[in-house]
Amino acid sequence: MSKASLVTQRQLLSALSHGEFQSGQVLAETLGLSRTAIANHIQQLQQLGLDIYKVRGRGYCLAESLTLLDAAKISQLRQSSGADILVQNITDSTNSQLMQKVQDGLVNELGYTLVAEAQTAGRGRRGRNWYSPFAASLYFSMYWRLEQGIQAAMGLSLVVAIAIARLLKQQYQVDAKVKWPNDVYIDGKKLCGILVELAGQAHAGCDVIIGIGMNIRLPQQALGNIDQKYIDLTIASGQVIERNLLVVLLQKQLMTLLTQFSHTGFSSFVDEFNQYNQYRDKTVKLIGNTEIRGICLGVDQQGALLIETAAGVQAYFGGELSLRAGD
Ligand code: ATP
Repeated sequence: MSKASLVTQRQLLSALSHGEFQSGQVLAETLGLSRTAIANHIQQLQQLGLDIYKVRGRGYCLAESLTLLDAAKISQLRQSSGADILVQNITDSTNSQLMQKVQDGLVNELGYTLVAEAQTAGRGRRGRNWYSPFAASLYFSMYWRLEQGIQAAMGLSLVVAIAIARLLKQQYQVDAKVKWPNDVYIDGKKLCGILVELAGQAHAGCDVIIGIGMNIRLPQQALGNIDQKYIDLTIASGQVIERNLLVVLLQKQLMTLLTQFSHTGFSSFVDEFNQYNQYRDKTVKLIGNTEIRGICLGVDQQGALLIETAAGVQAYFGGELSLRAGD
């Protein structure tokens, strides 16, 4: 999409952002475009996942009022603490974008963060899709370095989940649970996915990209686009969520806990993870090359999943495993 189109769409969204009707004629005059051009831009925004209605005689209206990500507001909220935060409009995947910047040597600041309004190719684990409609979520990627080396990546991903659960409780009084190794749930519905990717091994440590997709206020269209139970933070908390503030708080929380992790390793997080464990003491199945059934006991000092099976307590580790409720 051209830069001019992006600017126009942002102007259109600002005009509609209060959730009131705006006629096509007024929008066309304000933006200096034809009514057909306005209709085309609206259609593109709908395709990006925005619920925009058209009512004959009244014009266009956003189903919900909208606050856009705003680089100036984020910078003001940061008050020069934390690391830089780059705001993009529409991107393929914030993880892919940040990965490229790290590999090109453009980013090496710990905690450097990239956020976007929408992703056209948002990813989950193993090539799965992450539904990423415009201005409805947080698409957040942060750079970090694992000084302990690649073997600490599992613990890091669990610490990220803990950071999110802690922040949700502190800031929005929401009780979130963590599904090992990397998803955050509320009331058994998925709120947030975490995708930790390795960006390379340029030195003793290892560069990682921490990707977080968190639903904030999903449009009606989500129903046909997500194939499991999901929830958004607006519904879960009953509050209006200011995403600019959330970006800043999340970066801060992650940097604090990951700094602790780099000093202590995962052992100081075991108890907290087990408190958030979605399947604590429940029957589960762990799906990988084979399927293991047993009682989920929590995690060990390295972050491996402990399951009590018929053969005793076993520890499971590795990125190719998926945990589910047992039947
Ligand atoms: P695993 O336990 O292996 O991680 P998962 O189904 O949670 O399994 P992920 O790779 O973590 O897989 O996340 C991708 C999945 O999340 C998608 O296949 C889809 O079911 C679900 N999903 C996609 N977009 C969203 C979203 N915006 N909100 C909630 N869930 C989503």
